[in-house]
Amino acid sequence: MLYLGSHVSFDKKEQLIRSTKEALAYGANTFMFYTGAPQNTNRSKIEDGLTLEALKLMKEGNVAFDKVGVHAPYIINLANADNLDFGIRFLTEELERCEELGIRYLVLHPGSHVGRGVEEGIATIIRGLNAVFLNNHGNVKILLETMAGKGTEIGRTFEELRQIMDGVEEKNRLGICIDTCHMNDAGYNVHDFDSLLKEFDQVIGIEKIGCIHINDSKNDIGAHKDRHENLGYGTIGFDSLIKIIYHPLLEDIPKILETPFINREFAPYKKEIEMIRSKKMEDNWRETFAEE
Ligand code: FE
Ligand code: FE
Ligand code: ZN
Repeated sequence: MLYLGSHVSFDKKEQLIRSTKEALAYGANTFMFYTGAPQNTNRSKIEDGLTLEALKLMKEGNVAFDKVGVHAPYIINLANADNLDFGIRFLTEELERCEELGIRYLVLHPGSHVGRGVEEGIATIIRGLNAVFLNNHGNVKILLETMAGKGTEIGRTFEELRQIMDGVEEKNRLGICIDTCHMNDAGYNVHDFDSLLKEFDQVIGIEKIGCIHINDSKNDIGAHKDRHENLGYGTIGFDSLIKIIYHPLLEDIPKILETPFINREFAPYKKEIEMIRSKKMEDNWRETFAEE
């Protein structure tokens, strides 16, 4: 079955109800959200009453809650030793929030080594993840995201991610979120997705993939930029994305859109989800979008 959705909001007042309503408005059957603003640490207490009501809405709307995930905020950088204590504390709290909400997985950017070098960065990430799993013995998984390699980002190669996984004790609590834009920008040929998957399987193991971020890219392969583009408007293109989304080996993996708003105002997700479901790209869909 195709589990398809986008990033949606989660707010203080309605929490998951807000996220669910937004996902349903897009025609999604799963979604991803931040538990608060990604650039700060203000988080509200989880209200179980709101969660229960949201679960009812999801059931009525055929949203697969077990495929819904949280994205950890950017302010966590486990690769920076100066900030590690904060990162460990905040990530532990994020896992607790996920547990309270009944969320099964949390997507995390591995981190940036800020000039200290890849090896030291990876060692610091491993220390951080081991500490987090010592603090929290729940069953929420952390999915490390494949990164574009912008600046000093770690996780631009499958080998780097494998190295992190090798150092973490609680291996069954770790997985991977692949991002199509990031892999393209990191230098992987997403147009030949069968070969890419084969390489991923050899280095990490295909069974570790827990989520896929679906984005077109504004930049050429290997650009190390990380700028997402709407479906069909980038260098990856609609057809290659459709092949990835409908790949038989990734059938049950949730696919989440993180494409940019149009004119910074209109969410493109309803349209993009429609086109993915029909496997047909409408010509110039973005140009006519605002008028609809
Ligand atoms: Fe991400
Ligand atoms: Fe992503
Ligand atoms: Zn990105």
